[in-house]
Amino acid sequence: MKTQTEKIEYAIQKDDERRFRYIPLEIPDNVETIEIKPSYTGDEANSNVTDQAKNVIDFALLDENGDDLGSSGSNMRKIVISSSFASDGYKRRPPHGTWQIIVGCYQVKDSGATAFYDVTYIFKEFRYLKGDIHTHTTNSDGKYTVLHLAQKAKKKGLDFLFITDHNNSTEDLAIPLVEGLTIIEGLELTNYDGHINLLGVKKPYNGSYATVTLAELNEKLGQAKRNGAMRVLNHPFCFMNPIDYNIDDVDYDGIEIWNGPAVAKEMIAAHWWQKKLEGGARIPVVGGSDYHHDYYITDLLASPTTRVRCDCNDKQTILTAIKNGHCVITRSPTSTMIDLRCSGYSVGDTVKVKGSETVEIIVSNMKKKHKLQVFSQKGLIHEYTNKSQKDYVYSTQVVGDGFVRAQVVYEKNFIGKLLHKAVLRTLSAEEAKKPIPELLYAITNPIYFVKS
Ligand SMILES: [Zn+2]
Repeated sequence: MKTQTEKIEYAIQKDDERRFRYIPLEIPDNVETIEIKPSYTGDEANSNVTDQAKNVIDFALLDENGDDLGSSGSNMRKIVISSSFASDGYKRRPPHGTWQIIVGCYQVKDSGATAFYDVTYIFKEFRYLKGDIHTHTTNSDGKYTVLHLAQKAKKKGLDFLFITDHNNSTEDLAIPLVEGLTIIEGLELTNYDGHINLLGVKKPYNGSYATVTLAELNEKLGQAKRNGAMRVLNHPFCFMNPIDYNIDDVDYDGIEIWNGPAVAKEMIAAHWWQKKLEGGARIPVVGGSDYHHDYYITDLLASPTTRVRCDCNDKQTILTAIKNGHCVITRSPTSTMIDLRCSGYSVGDTVKVKGSETVEIIVSNMKKKHKLQVFSQKGLIHEYTNKSQKDYVYSTQVVGDGFVRAQVVYEKNFIGKLLHKAVLRTLSAEEAKKPIPELLYAITNPIYFVKS
């Protein structure tokens, strides 16, 4: 991440004692996070005011309107503020405009004091943020509290986490602040005819979840949209809890193409989606682990991981990027990644084409025997089975309207298939009898092209 550091030194005289002094902080444009490390001379560890000759200099911050952003006395040595996180005692804010440091000269030696402020600006920058879009907590049938789940997510290297409990909104739920992890509200509208994630709002609808008809369901979904939620049809082709309506009749924004451990339903969803894309539809897809708890040695959180391309880790930026399809879904936070690039554009973008354009499909950390498949509006246009290399790049020319997307699939080995069937058998004897198809390991949203 691009950073800029400023070192401020401020001289304090005996006369300043019991007074407040102010230092303006002109925040540059496009800052995502600000870090301030205050310190001062004559800081004798125990910062209580005593009758001994020592310095006690308090720290506080004012925002661009002159309102208190927070204060931390004289002991705190690092303060971090962004829209998604703030150190204890401070408010979350996007850093911009002119802020002010309050130099609280509580106790000053006769010889004076010098205060130091190391200010680091961390700039917005496009990158892939990793997260899980579908998780459950003790707010419904999950094992962990939001805080415990958030700590697990942070340990796994995630940048964001959606809380999507069954029919329980986060309206009354305390959402903790965890540095480096953006926790986003959601709710999984769960009915007997389908499960639908309503992402990004504390309370997506009024009244009850309990709907029976399609008209009632669409009325709730309409409310959720007006309240700013993204509406994602979860595991639409699951053999246990599918969307029971004709999908075209449901009011939605996106599809959960990958839900939990990859099985046949992901390939059915990918095939359905491809046909829709070929017909000119633009439907963003996401993945979610649907995490409730682990079984024995499993590690199911963020499996799959949705990687969202955005320039800031605040809630609204992440949500908007997901709505616009700037996502790649991978098996885990560290597994094979596919990126699409075309003249500075990437997944979810629309490129205006004059003549022709070249799209690069960049696969990194690819496993042996795994297969890359590249699709366009004409269907499957390229296939490559990996023999040994870790990274693979494929380029293709685009002319006129259309799209390019990519996925990596693999076939389980003999033992893997036995285990797969054993697990399926515990859920459905019928499902376990079916042959196991190639399974999803990574999938991108498309990059779209319009003839100009
Ligand atoms: Zn769920």
